[in-house]
Amino acid sequence: MKMIKKYIQAKDIEYSLVNTPQITFEVTDACNLKCTYCGYGEFYSDYDTRENKILPVKKAMLLLNYLNNLWNSAQNTSLKKEVYISFYGGEPLMNMQFIRQVVDFVENELEQQVRKFSFSMTTNAILLHKYMDYLVKHDFNLLISLDGNRDNTAYRIDKNGNPAFDRIIRNVNLLKDIYPNYFLKKVNFNAVLHNKNSVEEIYTFFKSNYNKIPSVGELNNTGIRPEKQGEFNRAYRNSTESLYQSENYSEIEKNMALRS
Ligand code: SF4
Repeated sequence: MKMIKKYIQAKDIEYSLVNTPQITFEVTDACNLKCTYCGYGEFYSDYDTRENKILPVKKAMLLLNYLNNLWNSAQNTSLKKEVYISFYGGEPLMNMQFIRQVVDFVENELEQQVRKFSFSMTTNAILLHKYMDYLVKHDFNLLISLDGNRDNTAYRIDKNGNPAFDRIIRNVNLLKDIYPNYFLKKVNFNAVLHNKNSVEEIYTFFKSNYNKIPSVGELNNTGIRPEKQGEFNRAYRNSTESLYQSENYSEIEKNMALRS
């Protein structure tokens, strides 16, 4: 403890907090899908039990009020810096009440002179048709999770094992048709790589259908249940290997950010 105090002092923590570029709320651990490879799913042993809980909005207000005081204090060294307020899940659109209250608070109660706030969300898009007007109105940066075409997305299923692809695509296309400018500027895609897709298929799907360059992530290979290791190994694909198996890998490599 003494050693830590020697190197990290309260003012260092405050400095980091006051300059934080992003605040992410896990607004619920509930989800309306049950993807085979979900980090909270059957492959893994290293997560807390999912209890369909929602994050109380009071806790968010406490944090935001505390940060607002810091932002307005003498230690505020970076005026008008951008702060992303991000919503994550589970599926964040399953707790819209929380999101609406936080957005309202940020827009109307926080001091706008010292920080510029932007909103962002990662979503599976299943409820997008219900809430797109709101997300567009508040200029959310939207990251939609989708693994490519229908076959590529076969691991994205609901609790009854039904494929989610058609529902996701219907909503994505609805958003694109109703709000083309918003779609162009604020929507991006996030794909998971596995044995039912490849970097090339993912790239080609999003480039040709939406003129977007998606980000690609690998399956998390830590915390695997021993009895699921074989199944996991069959599903796992390495992104660099998959990239170099692409016909036009130099173009894809130049354009894409691969995440592991
Ligand atoms: S949408 Fe995300 S949180 Fe929900 S089951 Fe799929 S991977 Fe898990």
